[in-house]
Amino acid sequence: MFENLSDRLSGVLEKLTRQGALTEEDVATALREVRVALLEADVSLPVARDFVKSVQEKATGQAVTKSVSPGQQVIKIVHDALIQTLAGDDANAGELKVSSPPAPILMVGLQGSGKTTTTAKLAKRLTDRNKKRVLMASLDTRRPAAMEQLAVLGMQIGVDTLPIVAGQTPVQIAKRAKQQATLGGYDVYMLDTAGRLSIDDELMDEVAAVRDEAKPHETLLVVDGLTGQDAVYTAENFNTRVGISGVVLTRMDGDGRGGAALSMRAVTGKPIKFVGLGEKMDAIEEFHPERIAGRILGMGDIVSLVEKAQEQIEAEQAERMMKRFQKGQFNMNDLKQQLEQMQKMGGMQGVMGMMPGMGKLTKQMDEAGLDDKVLKRQIALIDSMTKQERRNPALLQASRKKRIAKGAGMDVSDLNKLIKMHRQMADMMKKMGKMGKKGLMRGGLS
Ligand code: GDP
Repeated sequence: MFENLSDRLSGVLEKLTRQGALTEEDVATALREVRVALLEADVSLPVARDFVKSVQEKATGQAVTKSVSPGQQVIKIVHDALIQTLAGDDANAGELKVSSPPAPILMVGLQGSGKTTTTAKLAKRLTDRNKKRVLMASLDTRRPAAMEQLAVLGMQIGVDTLPIVAGQTPVQIAKRAKQQATLGGYDVYMLDTAGRLSIDDELMDEVAAVRDEAKPHETLLVVDGLTGQDAVYTAENFNTRVGISGVVLTRMDGDGRGGAALSMRAVTGKPIKFVGLGEKMDAIEEFHPERIAGRILGMGDIVSLVEKAQEQIEAEQAERMMKRFQKGQFNMNDLKQQLEQMQKMGGMQGVMGMMPGMGKLTKQMDEAGLDDKVLKRQIALIDSMTKQERRNPALLQASRKKRIAKGAGMDVSDLNKLIKMHRQMADMMKKMGKMGKKGLMRGGLS
């Protein structure tokens, strides 16, 4: 999977690593090619656009390191952006909620997507790996062959299937499956719903009725990864009309262009939980965004090299800052660095928790509503100052304040708040400096 995209991306990016210094133009050219490669892989246009934009922003704002080349840094940024696109903020996409027995799992999707095969694959997986007792039931009342197919697969993998009773509706079968699962002491029961060749109202109503009856703990949509943008469209539809908890992308063993995988999360907001990699019953894998990103880029060595270098820079930066603080120096540049650090760490709590004696300030800042948006505005205010003003905040008198606030599109009162915060932090730093090196170490003041 992803061979073409992978070849294209690594081709584009490798060119960057061969250059010493990179101009903005070099990066822009490379990113244009990245965008084309994504589109050719069938990634949807808005997703490709956002992807390139986020890489561009990060690439321009980043600190330059001596130990790795700019090209290598760009690769790391692309790598991280791939993970973000694939995963959003989900940490454990590949896990299924099957802890309270009998846990119903609803399998939905179009006909031919690989739904029945995937039902059996997952049942086998839950049996073998999670030691669950699983019962499978086919709800495809229109196609007796589909019911037979599930029964045959069940025998093949040693998983029980609900006996077929002619003439029942899907809702009735779902009810019977639950009864049997409860009486038989099963941990999980899987409902393989009927598919259609395309999305229609009748199908959606039927699936929704089964959902209301079964109250599934997981509703997994099975989609054919080879269908590219259509797969994403199908997922969007099922998600709005039935509500899904995750996606299984099948046929990822084929030479599909992989774009469905990249667009799925961004477009539907739902994670890909598994990928199907063949017709055999064990040809299914948990979806690991990091591994997939690694596979797409194929540049794992460079990524870890840059990670190490970044850790090194951060350590050096922190050291330099600490030295200045000890001398009682804390200007607007320092404040900006702090604010940016906070942004990177996702808010106040994280950073302040790492700085000794900051409890009180954290509270004040919380009260001031210091979230990401506020951080951005404060950084904009500092950016609107001249170099001199940043180095020497004592210069900030009325007329300068007006100019700065205007430049950042804010009021002088906003700037005053920032100045007050700076003063408080500078005081704090001075106190910490006086306590000597020991006082500055983690937890030293608490
Ligand atoms: P359903 O109509 O959605 O239930 O689809 P089926 O489960 O019957 O699958 C249709 C065909 O796709 C079967 O021949 C499966 O063996 C095949 N299939 C399912 N998943 C995969 C996969 O991940 N890779 C490949 N290569 N074939 C698959």
